[in-house]
Amino acid sequence: MPEFQRPRGTRDFGPAEMAKRRYVEAKMRETARLFGFGEVMTPTFESTELFVARSGEGIIEELYAFEDKGNRKISLRPELTASVMRFYVNEMQNLPKPVKIFYFGNCFRYERPQAGRYREFFQLGAELIGAPSIESDAEVIALALATLKNLGLEDVVVRIGHLGVLNKFIDEFGVKKDTQIEIRRMIDKQDFESLNTLPDGATANKDVNDRLIKLIRLKGGAETIQKARELMDGGDPSLDYLADLLDRLNAYGFDNCQVDFGVARGLDYYTGMVFEIDAPSLGAEKQICGGGAYTLADLFGGQEVNSTGYAFGFDRIMLALEKSGVDVPSQNLEIYILPICDEAKIAAIKILSELRNAGISADMDLMSRNMSKAMKYANSVGAGKVIIIGEKELAEKSVTVRDMKTGEQARVLISELNDYL
Ligand code: AMP
Repeated sequence: MPEFQRPRGTRDFGPAEMAKRRYVEAKMRETARLFGFGEVMTPTFESTELFVARSGEGIIEELYAFEDKGNRKISLRPELTASVMRFYVNEMQNLPKPVKIFYFGNCFRYERPQAGRYREFFQLGAELIGAPSIESDAEVIALALATLKNLGLEDVVVRIGHLGVLNKFIDEFGVKKDTQIEIRRMIDKQDFESLNTLPDGATANKDVNDRLIKLIRLKGGAETIQKARELMDGGDPSLDYLADLLDRLNAYGFDNCQVDFGVARGLDYYTGMVFEIDAPSLGAEKQICGGGAYTLADLFGGQEVNSTGYAFGFDRIMLALEKSGVDVPSQNLEIYILPICDEAKIAAIKILSELRNAGISADMDLMSRNMSKAMKYANSVGAGKVIIIGEKELAEKSVTVRDMKTGEQARVLISELNDYL
């Protein structure tokens, strides 16, 4: 008989893990709702062209791409921003602005799998479309930060940059057009070595190159903006913008954001503010979120519209919560009922149904197990309490309730059971 394995880079999730994931998902959705964002859903596959329009030809080697039976070029989505913006162009352009939407879904990338990097993974992201203001940028970052705060994930580093700063160097200091994108990619990868050895003429002179490298290494609080002003001969409007943005994030109650001019996001459609969030506990794959201000609708045939958005790597958030020791409930079952004689079985079913009707998750022994085996099973499914019904209990119209954490037992009248629980 052949033995089938799941495809490389994919995972199966058992009931305990799924309970945790659903709990975290629910918290993240709830935070988006509190911020006035509505959920959307788009297809798992789209035309390959859509992803190429968003990310360039280079994306093709990352895609799960195929031709369908009607000879259409189709790809499983590697991210959801392209789909959401296509949806916006198709059906939402005429809605009153801003349009505030979020999504949760699986993504597929043909990458080399490693810890925190999978071929099927999940993203939860948000887009605020049609309100090009600093308040919109602040609102979007604040949603990301509130989401993490509500999850109890505090060990994170928020790094905010602005492409205006990099563009000033890139434009004004004589970098050739075709080298500009290359430079952004090098900055995005923090590849200082390549930046240092840019071909002659790529930057106007060595001094500019040195200053660029100094600038993109600058990281820190509001004082970093002042240091950047010095490197930029007095400053740039994008530096003022970052200072104002930090003020607004402070007003939301987030005073832990860093400025980082090395955040470049490798893609061309970002227009200004860009940000990333890391969970340092994750090591190499520590980035749990990336986003910024962008225009994309025009690339998809719509009217140009300014947007700000981000995507969380949901799987990395799950890993980071675990590493940080945040308690995520995995318990599916509150009560396990064990009738220890045949006569108790009908009473057990009645109690089982009553508990379920009252919204309490309950299960009962279906295998006529003895006490010790039943307790082991109850433990293995994470039951909070076990209700034992034997001859003595039946005679007294009562049950024995055992708390699986403390081991404490109490005799409770069936008529008082709901209140007791
Ligand atoms: P991106 O769309 O590349 O900006 O990714 C957004 C977020 O998705 C990243 O910050 C990661 O947390 C997460 N992510 C990206 N690729 C993967 C992957 N292959 N496996 C797991 N998470 C990923």
